[in-house]
Amino acid sequence: MVLSLFLTIPLAAAAPHRALPDDAGGPSRAADAVLDRVDWPAATPELTTLLSDLLKIRSVNPPGDETKAVEFLEGVLAKEGIATERVPLSDGRSSLIARLPGSGADKPICLLSHVDVVPVEPTRWSVDPFAGVVKDGFLYGRGALDMKGMTALETMTMLQLHRLGVPLRREVILLAVADEEVDSQGMDSVVKLWDRVGCSHVVNEGGYGLEGLFFPGQTFHAISVAEKGAVWIRMIASGKPGHGSTPIAGRAPEHLTRALERLATRKDKVTWSPALLEAFRRVGAEHGGVAGAILQSPGLLKLLVKPKLLANPATHAALTDTVNVTGFFGGNAPNVVPSEVGAVLDCRILPGHTVDALLAELTALVDDPAVRFEVTSSTNANGSPWDDPFFAALAARAVEGQEHAVAGPVVSVGYTDSQALRPLGVHAYGYVPFVIAPELLGTTHGDDERVPVSELAPGLRRLMGAVLDVSLDVTAGPRPLVPNNPGPR
Ligand SMILES: [Zn+2]
Repeated sequence: MVLSLFLTIPLAAAAPHRALPDDAGGPSRAADAVLDRVDWPAATPELTTLLSDLLKIRSVNPPGDETKAVEFLEGVLAKEGIATERVPLSDGRSSLIARLPGSGADKPICLLSHVDVVPVEPTRWSVDPFAGVVKDGFLYGRGALDMKGMTALETMTMLQLHRLGVPLRREVILLAVADEEVDSQGMDSVVKLWDRVGCSHVVNEGGYGLEGLFFPGQTFHAISVAEKGAVWIRMIASGKPGHGSTPIAGRAPEHLTRALERLATRKDKVTWSPALLEAFRRVGAEHGGVAGAILQSPGLLKLLVKPKLLANPATHAALTDTVNVTGFFGGNAPNVVPSEVGAVLDCRILPGHTVDALLAELTALVDDPAVRFEVTSSTNANGSPWDDPFFAALAARAVEGQEHAVAGPVVSVGYTDSQALRPLGVHAYGYVPFVIAPELLGTTHGDDERVPVSELAPGLRRLMGAVLDVSLDVTAGPRPLVPNNPGPR
């Protein structure tokens, strides 16, 4: 999936910047001491090779073929003595679980990614999408951002924690799953084993660090705390069948046309999610000045900025329940009036909103007994609190060492596997810790998907730092290195 919140607000000129107060929680000195022991000059080449090798694996879904990626990760982890377990799905398809043991003082934390990727149109790319090519400072390949880049950071976090013999107060579990891009069967099969995973927290895809998203010079690290629910509907109109030569009243296509016209008149109902208001508050506080003050005031925000937000498709989607006509079905003989024709609707609802309420709204709007709505698939929106130590750690590590950077919670408008975990009581956050230009978001599921090579090591530092902040056992000495651990390469 792709993020969420994308907008630029051409407000007043840049005002003096000031720092945002630290989040509660945040970086610990003991975690910093571990980070200092990482061989950082070696991290960039090692991550480049790891991600490049992953990008060469054609785990395109459909059909998936994720076992090739799982085998590769098994090799990387086993070489350094980290135990792995394969969760089979079907022929050529599986997911991977790898664990670093902890003292059990806290529930495990999961580093989640999916290893399938969406198809490509190779002729539209400037390089081979499956060659793991570095060009002009970028590592290119399908999945570089969505989301093998994160798989590489998570795998390297496991390797580093293991190499350094870091004592952990909770298990750290790597979950690399199949099939996120189509049916989430990989996550479903892992959920069935949940009594053996049972983590309290997950980091997964969702947001990124986005340069100049709101204000030039300011980087906004979007950490997704919720995803909208997806409701797929067949809107079916019925009527009298007959001969195409002789139009009569009450034909199914006539009902469908009228229903579509009525759908097009649907008015936006804006829902200001607390996450969005919190994100604006943080962005405004970091930016300062008049524009910053406006963003920090929900009243002024709603009054002055709402039109801009609704005019931008991405923020429009973040603020409203959307109904999108994405296809049609029914008769196709030119001279036959079919008894039924229909439209496919992709609807996305915000946290707290229900499928029933959406259906009631659509039924009232269309107001035609000859038109019915059939829900073919639905997931509920769900979310996690941002008043949480892991969220605080992710947010604090995201902005560390950057002059004008701020992290805040967002609601993703697309689906991720996090949605399957929250009903199990898991706090799930979506944050791929690369700082990128917002334009690069369009390369996920698009052409020339790529990640800046210069962001690989900083991304590792942000992720590993946050994991350490909530997982390091400060009461224990370092674990003895396992005999077959070859140490840093
Ligand atoms: Zn994805």
